[in-house]
Amino acid sequence: MQVFITVDTEHSVGGAIEDPAKEPVGNEKRIFGRIGEKYYGIPLILDIAERFNIPLTFFVDTVSGEYFGRGEMSAASSFLLKRGQDIQLHLHPLFLNLSKRARSARKYDPYLYNYDLGEQMDLVNSGKSFLESLGVSNLVAFRAGGFAANHDTLTALEKTGFLVDSSYNLMALGRVCRLEGIKINDVFEYHKESFWELPITNFVETSYRGLRALKPLDINGVSFPEIRSVLMQAQKKGMQAAVVLMHSFSFVTNSAYNSGKMRPRQRVIKRFYALCKFLEQNKERFEVRSFGSLDKKRLCKMSKNAVNIVPRVPLVWTLARLIHQAQEHIVMR
Ligand SMILES: [Zn+2]
Repeated sequence: MQVFITVDTEHSVGGAIEDPAKEPVGNEKRIFGRIGEKYYGIPLILDIAERFNIPLTFFVDTVSGEYFGRGEMSAASSFLLKRGQDIQLHLHPLFLNLSKRARSARKYDPYLYNYDLGEQMDLVNSGKSFLESLGVSNLVAFRAGGFAANHDTLTALEKTGFLVDSSYNLMALGRVCRLEGIKINDVFEYHKESFWELPITNFVETSYRGLRALKPLDINGVSFPEIRSVLMQAQKKGMQAAVVLMHSFSFVTNSAYNSGKMRPRQRVIKRFYALCKFLEQNKERFEVRSFGSLDKKRLCKMSKNAVNIVPRVPLVWTLARLIHQAQEHIVMR
């Protein structure tokens, strides 16, 4: 089975939409994760992944360049390019509201699905040419900010030369993710031999009350034993791909991102370390790849053999995580 670890690399509006006195938060905190002299953002993510030879995919948001400017945006991408990393496109249209010309009007919608096909094509094209101007080659994949894609998004991507979208998140389907009409949890051929959807892997967790809920494989909300359980089940049942979600700021607390009190999230750092180590030790079962390594031939083969199951994580692992989270909250108070 193929595994894709994806890092959505983006700034934060930092509450500046609701409160014009607030400032968006840029590279240092949200992308490089600097706390004192240490970096807990993409530098640490890369250090851990490289230690275990794990390739990553960085979905870089280009719209925040409307506020932060070219310099800040190219610094993040250049850092990744120098380390030989795979960069793909991510868009958060909300940042358009922070550009000088729109700052007082706040007229732009945060959700990509609220733009028509032509507008979505313009947004995708401008993000694409921006990344290409920085030296990014092999742009084949896209993820909408907040998973807010619709069917027009996939058409816009196909028309602008992309091969694969990874905005589909079963948990958010019909709410913020508007790719209704397809029920998937594995690679899906959206347009015959020309465009594919590679969903963020979801699983079912059972709560102690017996309730069932869908959850995405997000490094920030799921323990390592849960991730391991999902990957093992997916591989056993013949799923072709698993997509893990994380962010450039996954290793730092976000509650205080604007006040200088940001702290490292040691538990998440350890979890990512454990995941990379597990994948390295189980190379025969799991082939970790970047989105940039995908081509039509591979996607055709994967989608033909896709198995759309939703793994269920045993209650014991969910309970263990809830107990850990409760302890973490007590410690942090
Ligand atoms: Zn995002």
